[in-house]
Amino acid sequence: MPEHDPQQQARQHAAPLLGDMPTDELRRHGRAALDWVADYLDRVGDLPVLPRVGPGDIRRRLPSSPPVRGEPVEAILADLDRLLDGVTHWNHPRFFAYFAITGSGPGILAELVTAALNLNPMLWRTAPAATELEQVVTDWLRQLLGLPSAFRGVIFDTASTSTLVALAAARERELPGVRETGLAGVAVRGRVYASGEVNASVEKALITLGLGRDGLRTVATDAAFRMQPGALAEAIDDDVRAGWLPLAVVATVGTTSSTSIDPLTAVAEVCRRHRVGADPIWLHVDGAYGGIAAVAPELRHVLDGASQADSVVVNPHKWLFTPIGCSTLYVRDVGALKRVFSLAPVYLRTDDGVEDYTDWGFQLGRRFRALKLWMVLRYFGADGLAARIREHVRLAQLVADWVDRHDRFERVAPVPLSTVCLRARYGVDPVEEDRRNGALLDAVNASGTAFLSHTQLRGRAVLRIAIGNLRTTEEDVRATLEVLEREAERLVG
Ligand code: PLP
Repeated sequence: MPEHDPQQQARQHAAPLLGDMPTDELRRHGRAALDWVADYLDRVGDLPVLPRVGPGDIRRRLPSSPPVRGEPVEAILADLDRLLDGVTHWNHPRFFAYFAITGSGPGILAELVTAALNLNPMLWRTAPAATELEQVVTDWLRQLLGLPSAFRGVIFDTASTSTLVALAAARERELPGVRETGLAGVAVRGRVYASGEVNASVEKALITLGLGRDGLRTVATDAAFRMQPGALAEAIDDDVRAGWLPLAVVATVGTTSSTSIDPLTAVAEVCRRHRVGADPIWLHVDGAYGGIAAVAPELRHVLDGASQADSVVVNPHKWLFTPIGCSTLYVRDVGALKRVFSLAPVYLRTDDGVEDYTDWGFQLGRRFRALKLWMVLRYFGADGLAARIREHVRLAQLVADWVDRHDRFERVAPVPLSTVCLRARYGVDPVEEDRRNGALLDAVNASGTAFLSHTQLRGRAVLRIAIGNLRTTEEDVRATLEVLEREAERLVG
């Protein structure tokens, strides 16, 4: 992209010095931008999933200073194509890394409208429709997940935020007054329990909440990478004897590496039996990815026991086709959130007598995220969403069967949802085998055909194939397995 030439820009573009883009221009460019989006989605499957750029390549192509005069939209849109050289295509049908996601059509349209309205639903008064739509749409999703009506929902940007907010509420319930005095005001150290497979967002929440990384005690898992309730009970008893205060247990439905599902009912029972204070230990369910599966009636069992939790997070932006930035936190006692976060300084006080979502979390300003979830739920409908999730599970099963039948590969975890963990076998020592699996991952990803990610299970290298994009077909899956097989053979010897 060329450096800015102010004189040339001035010739090209006589933007008004004041005011917004005129609406006739918005209409015209809006059509062009939407065409760009539709063209991109039409051809995204033909692009290499991972960009072939090195660190700094894109930055070097960008002007190092902002334009002095405004630029024509045509020039900006034209440069988008060049930016694509450095895009990892999350909307690609063969994006199988991490958790595959989709910024779907209805979600994309909703993002456009959201920006146009530019609402800030911090208070009911600042955005009555957005506040009430958030109440309605979180309740719709609650029904789809089969959670009891006692749960009320709020939408945050990410599961990291949802979990941080939930654990702040748990901390305040066990250590009332921390909000006033800070942790310096309490003599006891708090602990949170989770399996060793828990997502790193929990540790980050504990760092943020001043509980520190020591505030997490990891609990042993079984052969299927699920938390062992017996080990949880022992860990809590052991800690209490040593003077720790149990604050919360985090159980995961769909762990990040293997998508294992912790036994919620048994874990909830431990939270009840091993309580220290008046309430059972706060149970937070991290269903960021896996909890969404409950939208398909035959998979609703993944949330069995979640009704006994204090808080549950699911991410529509992971497996419910909603563009990034949509995580729904459900809590049974909204008062627990408000006891931490409600401050209402004078300039925010109203006498509307309504729910103000700013009281439910640490953010004052909030994005209007409910609209995109509402449009996604309405456009696809419960049956349509379930059918799509079901198809992803079917494709994952197909991968699992292929791996199980293949001499070169082994499957290293059960496949309860839509992610398969596998490894190539070379009959060499573990260190060399792990090295070759790393090389295999790099080779598949360098092919441009697909993007897989890696993890470790029981200390060994693992490749993950995670299916979750609406454009993924059986053909995409088979093409990826072919590349995997071909590259694995190349590494023999
Ligand atoms: N929980 C689980 C199980 C996850 O897999 C992830 C991310 O992949 C998270 C939480 C964090 O999600 P977010 O990126 O929305 O913070």
